[in-house]
Amino acid sequence: MKAPDGDAGHHAHPRRRRGRPLLRCPRGAGHAGGRPREGACRKVRISGGGRCNFTNLRTTARAFLSENPHFAKSALARYTPQDFLALVEGHGIAYHEKTLGQLFCDSSAREIIAMLLGLARDADLWLETEVGAVAHDGTHYRVELTRHGKPVTVLARHLVVATGGKSIPKMGATGRAYALAGQFGLPVTETRAGLVPFTFADGRFAPLSGLSLPVRAAANGTAFEEAMLFTHRGLSGPAMLQISSYWQEGQDITLDLLPGTDAAQALAEAKRQAGKSQLGTWLTRQLPKRLAESLAPDLPATTRLAELASARIDAIAEHLHRWTLRPSGTEGYRTAEVTLGGVSTGALSSRTMEAKALPGLFFIGECVDVTGWLGGYNFQWAWASAHAAGTEIASRA
Ligand SMILES: Cc1cc2nc3c(=O)[nH]c(=O)nc-3n(C[C@H](O)[C@H](O)[C@H](O)COP(=O)(O)OP(=O)(O)OC[C@H]3O[C@@H](n4cnc5c(N)ncnc54)[C@H](O)[C@@H]3O)c2cc1C
Repeated sequence: MKAPDGDAGHHAHPRRRRGRPLLRCPRGAGHAGGRPREGACRKVRISGGGRCNFTNLRTTARAFLSENPHFAKSALARYTPQDFLALVEGHGIAYHEKTLGQLFCDSSAREIIAMLLGLARDADLWLETEVGAVAHDGTHYRVELTRHGKPVTVLARHLVVATGGKSIPKMGATGRAYALAGQFGLPVTETRAGLVPFTFADGRFAPLSGLSLPVRAAANGTAFEEAMLFTHRGLSGPAMLQISSYWQEGQDITLDLLPGTDAAQALAEAKRQAGKSQLGTWLTRQLPKRLAESLAPDLPATTRLAELASARIDAIAEHLHRWTLRPSGTEGYRTAEVTLGGVSTGALSSRTMEAKALPGLFFIGECVDVTGWLGGYNFQWAWASAHAAGTEIASRA
């Protein structure tokens, strides 16, 4: 039995050899056919703002967080962004590169879903199926399913768990894989929400909501230079989502509001050129006006540039390059794009994704302790880990 459902799942079925591989898919999903139903591949459907950032041409293991930073290398090397791209091109799906190697559909993520369902056409694909109890009798996995409200038992030599993480419970995330790993004695590393907006309990950024600017965001020794978005609840946008995966509760984040600029040098130059103008005026030329105004209470905004001594200029520059904030928390699994942590890589073969201690049991996709940056890396991991497991199972048929 293959047990894929979300995105890794649809990609895992091996080529048919003997017998028909069974694909079990998530609750609320439609049946395989040309036109995707509402439920199938739900995360693909909403991904990339509806256009699915389906891979990243710059994929390397460096773009993934894991207790073992080398674990992803084998699967990623054997199923590359070009491999998935070949499928996309072969299906005539138009795409474009946005930034930093990120590939998106020109039209709609639904094209990717239709492609995946089409590729699974030859398999005995079961959608609208809930996975219940799982047992192993020494040679076979016995999986209790609920299909169209009726109990069904399936016996299989191979069980591929692709039930994702805990992110977005409203979309069907259950954390089922972790419980299953635990049941079979496999370690699970601590899980937490990743690629998730920050919250500030005091609502201090609500007046700036909707405003965005490029920043360099740093936490825990890692930094990302991308756009930041102020929200009613706190901070979001690619830079914040990226750094959230490195941030730990109670830590500060540091924002460079003028990345790539030497603020001290720029201020000194402005002082020479326009000493009569106020610091506040200079700030509104460097930053969005509303942000500049909100920073004014912390800076000598009404002071004329000519009156700023160089030590003061350095302090202002430091403030702009190292704006230090302590978030109250994150929006958590409710909106997180991924779940960090998961089934421990130490318990799995990096070549096949099979549990070392339990032949026939495979974990793929987001439920494994391999989490990518924002930008198509997580789907590439889903495809690559599914391919690793599927290839292995096909070779045994
Ligand atoms: C809003 C959003 C946007 C994203 N955009 C991108 C993007 O553009 N590019 C990118 O690379 N990544 C993106 N991601 C991340 C990406 O969607 C995931 O990394 C990827 O879907 C993981 O695939 P998966 O198959 O492992 O898990 P999932 O896609 O989560 O699939 C797991 C499936 O298992 C089902 N399931 C769980 N428990 C049970 C059970 N007991 N019985 C039956 N079924 C069960 C779930 O309902 C779900 O359908 C995004 C995520 C979100 C939330």
